[in-house]
Amino acid sequence: MLYIGGSGRSGSTLLESLLGEMPGVVVLGEVAHLWERGVRLDELCACGEHFSACPFWSEVGELAFGGWSRVDLERVAFLKDAVDRQRRMLRTARRRPAPEVHVLAQEYADLFVDIYRAARETSGARVVIDSSKVAPTALALSHHDELDLRILHIVRDSRGVAFSWSKQVARPETGGTEDMPRLTGRQSTQLWLSHNLALSAVTHRGVPIARIRYEDLVRDAAGTIDDVWRRLDLPPPAVLPMIDDHTVELHPTHSVAGNPMRFRTGTTRLQPDTEWREAMDARERRIVTAMSLPLLKFYGYV
Ligand SMILES: [Zn+2]
Repeated sequence: MLYIGGSGRSGSTLLESLLGEMPGVVVLGEVAHLWERGVRLDELCACGEHFSACPFWSEVGELAFGGWSRVDLERVAFLKDAVDRQRRMLRTARRRPAPEVHVLAQEYADLFVDIYRAARETSGARVVIDSSKVAPTALALSHHDELDLRILHIVRDSRGVAFSWSKQVARPETGGTEDMPRLTGRQSTQLWLSHNLALSAVTHRGVPIARIRYEDLVRDAAGTIDDVWRRLDLPPPAVLPMIDDHTVELHPTHSVAGNPMRFRTGTTRLQPDTEWREAMDARERRIVTAMSLPLLKFYGYV
């Protein structure tokens, strides 16, 4: 199971869509949000159907649990609160966690593993991708004894991220009535720092992790993916079907929750999104740069 980690607006949805085009790979979207947005609220799957009407997720639910209605959502919420929260990370990130923490994390991770197994069976894929992004979920999953977990961490320049958070984006899965949340440069950079740093904590738990930069992905998608596939020792071949070096045909997936970009299909041109360099407010840019400078340097952006 390959877990896509990263801070919001860092290109994880594009990465997921690209990986979904590869043979032997099935992408599931942000499984951490499946219980709420899929099972309870019945929001749209990336295939265009409501979760309850999507044939893929219906089959997965049947195989995993004998139907989604048999999942105890209250128990899931309890477990999530106990082991999948930012403030629980000090407990779940330990190499030798307290037994009660380990047992709860194992029970929580079991629900995910049932889904991954069913998705693998339904799709015939060898690699199952969960793009839940955040470190607490990855840490909880690392407590499962049978899960072969590897993490692909995508980072993006904090200034591009801040600019993206400042823009208005509708959420199509709600029928266009709701927008994605917006953040100031200071807020988005706090998130960027904490999420990216927290993902490094997963290495404590012995989970293999490899990092790529969004900017490299859009510049050379096939090369970047081929390289990271090797670094993570995933089953070859890592062949991304491209029309040319910068163009890819995206087909619908069953990504269950995440950025609205997951609904995008058809011919897609990959190009660096550098609008922030010209359009970003100078003061915001100074704040974001100052706040994130050490990590920007570490990732090779400065
Ligand atoms: Zn679907």
